Amino acid sequence: MKKLAIILTILFLLLVVIYFVIFKPEKYQEKDLYDSILERGTIKVGINTDAKPFGFFDENWEVKGYDADLARYIAQYILKSPNAVEFYSVTPENRMLKVSTGEVDIVIATMTITPQRQEIIDFSVPYDVAGQALLVRSNSMIKSIADLSGQNVGVVFGTTAEKNMLNLAPTANIIGFRNYRTAYQALKEGKIDALTSDDTILNRFVYEDKSVKLLPKRYTREPYGIALRKGKTTKRLRENINFAIKDMHRKNVILRLRRKWLFNAE
Ligand code: GLU
Repeated sequence: MKKLAIILTILFLLLVVIYFVIFKPEKYQEKDLYDSILERGTIKVGINTDAKPFGFFDENWEVKGYDADLARYIAQYILKSPNAVEFYSVTPENRMLKVSTGEVDIVIATMTITPQRQEIIDFSVPYDVAGQALLVRSNSMIKSIADLSGQNVGVVFGTTAEKNMLNLAPTANIIGFRNYRTAYQALKEGKIDALTSDDTILNRFVYEDKSVKLLPKRYTREPYGIALRKGKTTKRLRENINFAIKDMHRKNVILRLRRKWLFNAE
């Protein structure tokens, strides 16, 4: 009798497992992110608000910039309203985690598509491209990366520049910062001799302040992509974002965004 009970229990458990594996009841299925966004009526976008002119707060604490406009265009494309965006501040250091855990649906934050990052997250097609450059004080003797040996060079944690410097200037003293603001302050105060990141981001400091200059050479090619969680549930969202980006290229929206944010010092 006891034996029969055990067999029946095992059989029952087996049936439960088979049911979940084969039929995958809806409640336990991972929901398609595109459907969730349509249902919610907003898209949660991670943006770096410390990266003017890509992402920053204006005087009314509204998120502005190239990446913010891009997010609004995506919202218009998917949800038919440019205001259907919820912005969340991310940093280069935490943005991969935030998109992987679903805290945000996508990240639009001057993020370079790299093979290492693609092992952990997915990317859209590129929407723009930058290059790694060096920002120094105007009176600096540093002319290129070859002059960085023994110099203090600032990077922002989690950026491609941080990684690249190990190869580009292995004898420089690399000093990490949490954001561009503090890194730039350190350059001004002489705590570091150069700051390295994307030309598109560093340019803003040159526009605003003639006591620093951007050196002419670019050391990398940084194609910017919109980041998504890896997997089946983000496939449709990614396809739609790719359509939106291609549409933006076709209609010269990207060109206009470049003109508005990158060539006009705001
Ligand atoms: N594009 C670079 C990166 O993805 C640097 C810009 C940034 O993220 O702050 O790491």
